Amino acid sequence: MTGLFGQPDPQYIGKRSAAAVETGPPRDDVVQVAVERGVDLVDGLSYLEPPGQRLAVGVRVQVPLGRKDKPTRGVVVARGCEGPAPKRLKAVLRVEPGPGLPEELVELGRWLARYYACPLGVAISAMLPAAVKQGTGGTLRRWVRLAAAREADDSGSLPRRSAQQQKLIEAAGSGDWVELAVLLDRAGVKTAGPAQKLIDNGVLQAEDRPTVRSRLVTDAAAQAERQPAIPVDKLTPGQRQAIERMTGDDAQGFGVHLLHGVTGSGKTEVYLRLIEHALSCRADGGSSDGRLDGAEHPSGGALVLVPEIALTPQTVARFVGRFDRVAVLHSGLSAAQRHAEWRRIHAGEVEIVIGARSAVFAPLPDLRLIVVDEEHDGSYKQDQAPRYHGRDVAIRRAQRLGVPIVLGSATPSLESWARSQTDRSTLHTLPERPSGWKLPKVELVDLAQERRERRGVHMVSRRLERRLREAFAADKQAVLLLNRRGFASYLACPSHACGWQLRCDHCDAAMVFHRDRKVPSGGTARCHHCDARRLVPALCPLCSRRPVLLGEGVQRVEQELETKFPGVATLRMDADTMRRAEDYRRTLDAFGRGEARILLGTQMIAKGLDYPGVSVVGVISADTALQVPDFRSAERTFQLIAQVVGRAGRGHTAGVAVVQTYHPQDPTVGLAAAQDYPAFAERELVSRRRAGLPPAGRMARVVCRHVDEDKASAMAADIAEVCRAVDAQRGLSVEVAGPAPCVLGRVSDHFRFEVRLLAAGGPEAAARLQALLADLRGRVKLVSDAGTAIDVDPVSLM
Ligand code: ADP
Ligand code: ZN
Ligand code: ZN
Repeated sequence: MTGLFGQPDPQYIGKRSAAAVETGPPRDDVVQVAVERGVDLVDGLSYLEPPGQRLAVGVRVQVPLGRKDKPTRGVVVARGCEGPAPKRLKAVLRVEPGPGLPEELVELGRWLARYYACPLGVAISAMLPAAVKQGTGGTLRRWVRLAAAREADDSGSLPRRSAQQQKLIEAAGSGDWVELAVLLDRAGVKTAGPAQKLIDNGVLQAEDRPTVRSRLVTDAAAQAERQPAIPVDKLTPGQRQAIERMTGDDAQGFGVHLLHGVTGSGKTEVYLRLIEHALSCRADGGSSDGRLDGAEHPSGGALVLVPEIALTPQTVARFVGRFDRVAVLHSGLSAAQRHAEWRRIHAGEVEIVIGARSAVFAPLPDLRLIVVDEEHDGSYKQDQAPRYHGRDVAIRRAQRLGVPIVLGSATPSLESWARSQTDRSTLHTLPERPSGWKLPKVELVDLAQERRERRGVHMVSRRLERRLREAFAADKQAVLLLNRRGFASYLACPSHACGWQLRCDHCDAAMVFHRDRKVPSGGTARCHHCDARRLVPALCPLCSRRPVLLGEGVQRVEQELETKFPGVATLRMDADTMRRAEDYRRTLDAFGRGEARILLGTQMIAKGLDYPGVSVVGVISADTALQVPDFRSAERTFQLIAQVVGRAGRGHTAGVAVVQTYHPQDPTVGLAAAQDYPAFAERELVSRRRAGLPPAGRMARVVCRHVDEDKASAMAADIAEVCRAVDAQRGLSVEVAGPAPCVLGRVSDHFRFEVRLLAAGGPEAAARLQALLADLRGRVKLVSDAGTAIDVDPVSLM
């Protein structure tokens, strides 16, 4: 293949040339290092070990890279080298202090790089928190205590002690752990030297401990007392059966379990008991597969993944209330906290790790069980390299370790559902809520009819308004969903003939009007793709008419509520009001305390809320996701409606949900309102199979991005051509579609073109896709992830 782009572009440097490497005989003082950045390699690079040192797999190092030998961070991924070693080898520059990546995770990283077609270094790097890699946030403090064994025979054989050493021993007293700084102070010793001698001689035992704790854990601990365990005889029959089947003898070892339970059916209680079971296997004399437990800290732990947004003190409290040693990994942690938590986990000091997507790489030394809650959630997919799916990586990790994994959801992804219909996973169902709790009654409102019968613009229908009034009269609360930010989706000329619309200068997208009382014109226009902002023009630039606002957003609903329910407190929750995880928690807490009657928001309110005071749920528009050009739009619509409808009717009041739609006849809307997931899944799977779309096949996507439109499209054309050639040569039967402009053809002044790859068939389809992508990367050098992004199992197709 010849280069099609003329001048090499910095983001995309033509074809890979086979580098001629001089080689010598194999040698065993060589390690393979996956470097953090700079090279697109499937394997590590070879380096000599520092003289006299043997480096284990997983050790973090710095190595010289490139012509200028720039020190670059990396991780040892293997020892020795396959085949003859390159003749002139550079040596590892530096071995980083502190623990490395466990070998198990290095192996998982190799799989990650292969499966998601990204450089090994990028995959490995994603598994370590930045603060660990950089060695920052070093808030470890040294703790010491008298070593018990030494105390008895301290007279003869040991070296003579200085007066200062003697003082330290006296101050250390009974042998309890004490922070070294405190001990020095107590003993009146000014330098650390004497203490270090005692540590070297084994008189004092030392340990470095993190000093910081996540606030979420502290908050959760405060709440935890209010969350007692549910007694066994109170479990629902569904819960009992699921627990029995998942703790039985058949369920030992690796297995994927899909726990499908309607919203509020008590999935968390099932997780808690499964974790208890998994951890208790240790207590009666080691684990069945013969792994040893550390003596200092009983190891053995469970990993619980939840969507970031569900990481509230409310969720965490349910785990903290049941287990002593819980670590929470969330985006609100400081670098120091993240570092500290990682070390605690690595040292086996933690029984349970709860965290969002990247917690799937938590270095638990003896992982016994993985739980992925809300497994359908799109936030498990990372949108930059490595573009991994947290659930799928979790499944892979469980498989490698030979431990069970539980995927829980009220609205499973069709991928997980389809799998549960085969022998590759087991389905467990919780068909009902705990006794006395009812699923809400659902009322569909036809918005087209509402519009015919009513004057003016109303986002709250008459029926929803009546339900809200009833709820407020009964001292209850309401949750209202509209999955659209801002006030109005478009600002346009009223004249159809003119057709002007305010669009972003940098993207192929309309600008969204956001209300802002501080601005004279009452608001600003914003692009939701590049975040550009501008003042709104008073008149249409083409025909000088006054523009109108079309399409509704949450701010508009908020305004309407102010007029329809004056004096009723509303909390709004969307990406504009919730800037930090902290805001989100504070808002939910305020709502939980009853400080507002209405919680209004975008999809973030649909997840994991559990408030008994809520008796009404309103879906302002069930149609937002239906209009998105994506084969998953029906699935997303179902999930959003079913999840938010499930927020009503917790506690002992039967709730009611009002779902407003222009498509009351749409089967997805109807089935979601009825919370009939199996019927929906069956229907949807038929159409996916017919079209050969996931889960009936596997998809990957390569997106090329460039400021120059021709270059972007030529890049995509070249990639499509290579893909077709590889497919034909190797007979992989992968369908190559494109190049074609992306749905969002331009974002932030970059043109975007894509190539879609579709491999029909069962699980083996993934291997064919992987083979094709590996060859593609061998032939075409994809230097920058921003320039050419490979996305395997894409979740968003924009
Ligand atoms: P899900 O995760 O399935 O939506 P949760 O686990 O949040 O449901 O459970 C909803 C509520 O029901 C929680 O407050 C939980 O404590 C309670 N709960 C769970 N199981 C039972 C039970 N068997 N009896 C009574 N209450 C229960
Ligand atoms: Zn833009
Ligand atoms: Zn006009």
